[in-house]
This record gives sequence, C-alpha cells and structure tokens, in this order.
Amino acid sequence: MSPSETYRYLFGPVPSRRLGLSLGLDLNPLKVCTENCVFCQVGATTELTLERREWVPTADVLAEFDRWAGTGGRADFVTLSGSGEPTMHSGFGDILRHVRAAGGFRTALLSNGSLMALPEVRRDAALADVVKVTLSAWDEESFRRIHRPAEGLSFDRLLAGERALREEFRGQLWVEVMLLPGYNDLPDQVRAIAERVALVRPDAVHLNTVTRPALAGVEVPRVPEAWLRTVAPWFTPAADIPVFAGRTPAPGSLSDRAWIELLARHPLALDALAASAGVEISAIERRLAPLAAAGQIVLEDHHGVRMARVASP
Ligand code: SF4
Repeated sequence: MSPSETYRYLFGPVPSRRLGLSLGLDLNPLKVCTENCVFCQVGATTELTLERREWVPTADVLAEFDRWAGTGGRADFVTLSGSGEPTMHSGFGDILRHVRAAGGFRTALLSNGSLMALPEVRRDAALADVVKVTLSAWDEESFRRIHRPAEGLSFDRLLAGERALREEFRGQLWVEVMLLPGYNDLPDQVRAIAERVALVRPDAVHLNTVTRPALAGVEVPRVPEAWLRTVAPWFTPAADIPVFAGRTPAPGSLSDRAWIELLARHPLALDALAASAGVEISAIERRLAPLAAAGQIVLEDHHGVRMARVASP
C-alpha cells in the first residue's frame, strides 16, 4: 500500500535518479516557506516567513514513520522535503536522529539554504548523510527576482550560510542550480553563479530547469537541454544535468529559422547539441555549415570547445 493512501506526512517512496528509492517526509503545511520562488512547483507561498517552529507535530511525523517502517517499509533514503523549507521545522534534527536510530536508512535534506546562517540549523542539518542546497542567483537583485524571499533574508546571508555549512559538514553536500530563461541563463550570469557555487565547495552540482509547469503564478519556460550541457563544465565540480524525456529534435528536422532562433539566445556547444539530439557532432556541423557559409551564424572554437552562435549584426 502506498503511504500516501494512509499517511499524512509521508510520501512515496518515489524513485529518484540520485537518491534511489526515496521516502519523503513533509514537515511544512501548504504553503509555508522562507521563499516564494517563481519556479516553485508546489504553489505560491501563502505564509512567507523565516519563523522556525514545530509547524507540524514532530510526534505525529515520527509515529507515521515508525508505522511505515514497522510494516516492512523499504527505501534507500528518507528525505526531508515537500511543501516548503524543511529546516523551518524546529524538530527536523530530532526527526533525523530518530530515522538514523531506526537503522537501515540513509537520510537526505533538501533545503533552499535560507536558514543555514543559523548555527543550530547547520548543527542539525549535519545529521543528514546528504544535504542539498539551492544557489541559483549571483547577487541581491537576482536573488530577489528569482526567489522572492521573506523579509530579513539576503543573498549574502544565504551564501554565507551555505559556505559555513560546508566548513562544518563532512557528509555529501550538493548544490542545485535552477536555470530559468530571462532570469539567470545568460552566459555572464551563469558564470557569476558558477563562481559563487565554487565558494561553497560542494561535492556535486546539479543543474536543473523547470520540467513541470510552475504553480507560483509566473510562467517560466525551460532552458534548452543543449544549453545546460554547454554550461555544465563551467561549474566546479562539473555539473550534472537532468535526464530529459523529450530530446532535442534531430538536426535535419529544424528549419534554418528555428536554428537561428535557438542560437540567438544562447551560443551552444556542438558536442552538447549532438548529445541532446543523439547524433554525431559531424551531423550537427553538416547541418549548420550552410548557415555559417551564408554568414547567418558563426562556428568557432571557444576555450577548446566548438561553438555555434548567431553572427553579430
Ligand atoms: S521552490 Fe522550494 S524554496 Fe522555493 S518557494 Fe517552492 S518550496 Fe519554497
């Protein structure tokens, strides 16, 4: 029987590419969060606050977990995530301790990083085997535009908290970067984010883009897979990108105009385009050669990477 049929705070287990089979624990009522991100897939934040308290009864969460584990529940990870920022729950450390004590489960904490500036939050976060934090902005203005945070939360505070966590946490620290067209996907913006991410010294970087409709009242299209592949090496360590259900169309199926529109926003690496379309690089080169010969696009080597971009007017 699925937990969702009989449990209030447990969901899944769901298969996760990076965590295996993951049982989720949701510690926030809908929709309490420290941020109101434009890309949020849970919905618009109705209670935007930095307040930490026992948003849902810790004892009830633990009782549900014990019931699930006691009936033979199996998962690779028990993951604190869900309808808002899990570190807002004042008992999240107790919950991690309880799951660890039960044995047989690794633990993950999926956080937006907003409260990591607090020593008590970092101390409890460090109980998890894996902590994933978000870093999708490079300064105060971009942070406000993308994440629309609660009063009192600043980009500097977020970054300082994530860096402090790295100093203290010996487990796996992952950073998720959400790229959004029109917000943070231009080359200079991505490089600026990559510089900030390097300061956090994560064990892994996960590049992401919107793959389902955002529900927070802002329509955000997704960044092309080929652009994610192009910028992934700019991160330290090189970023991992999601597996896309829909591949980039075969190179021959795109019209000249569609190619120019695709390249107008992002110069793209030919190897990334080839990987996205599942073809050889030579097939991409052959398709783009007439456009380059006509002076509409430029094919050039950039830091040892073969790139395509639209010609300057
Ligand atoms: S994406 Fe995460 S951090 Fe942002 S509003 Fe939604 S739940 Fe909160």
